[in-house]
Amino acid sequence: MSILKNINKILGEIPEEIKLVAVSKTRSIEEIKEVYDFGIRDFGENKVQEMILKEEKLNKDIKWHLIGHLQRNKVKYIVGKVYLIHSLDNINLLREIEKEYKKQNLTANSLIEINIGREESKTGILAENLDELIFEIEKCENVKILGLMAIIPRGDEIACLNYFKKVKELYDRLSKIKYKNISMKILSMGMTSDYKYAVREGSNMVRIGEGIFGKRNYNREG
Ligand SMILES: *Cc1c(COP(=O)(O)O)cnc(C)c1O
Repeated sequence: MSILKNINKILGEIPEEIKLVAVSKTRSIEEIKEVYDFGIRDFGENKVQEMILKEEKLNKDIKWHLIGHLQRNKVKYIVGKVYLIHSLDNINLLREIEKEYKKQNLTANSLIEINIGREESKTGILAENLDELIFEIEKCENVKILGLMAIIPRGDEIACLNYFKKVKELYDRLSKIKYKNISMKILSMGMTSDYKYAVREGSNMVRIGEGIFGKRNYNREG
């Protein structure tokens, strides 16, 4: 199927109020332009360098979502270029973001990434460590938390629904508490293989790559 057919299909399947982020990692400028011309303005990248190169070459009204693991030493490059950081998951990273955004008097809009499957190989914070991170977030001046992001372990329908439900419960729990610098507005969960389940469990932002662009080829530079 063509890129445009894929997007049409996905937009037909998800309710209108759910934001579709087109995950453009490894994709060429031409491929991204095709999606852009369709009207999509939210694009997700997982590497800082790749995102910055594309940001320079493409239209300035694109909202860039940094969805991959963010290393502290890369934070300085993204200030003013990222619409939303999806992958805040530790205090040291938080402090670096606060420091670099403060220098430019800008606000970093972020989501907290939750490692809901407790996978050692995965990024994201464990739910039991959330309190410590929130304690630090409340002291920030240049960081705003707008919600949560999760990548769940691969599994069947029941397993997926269960993980998404757990993230939604956490999201709802945090929504009820009044924290400084935190408001639960965005629940970023669901990728090509599981977005239908994520949407069923209350996601309002899905990050879809292969479902739009076709299979990724990691040997090709974006
Ligand atoms: C690559 C990636 C996606 C998109 O994955 P697809 O399977 O291509 O839809 C979503 N979220 C994150 C964090 C990713 O790195």
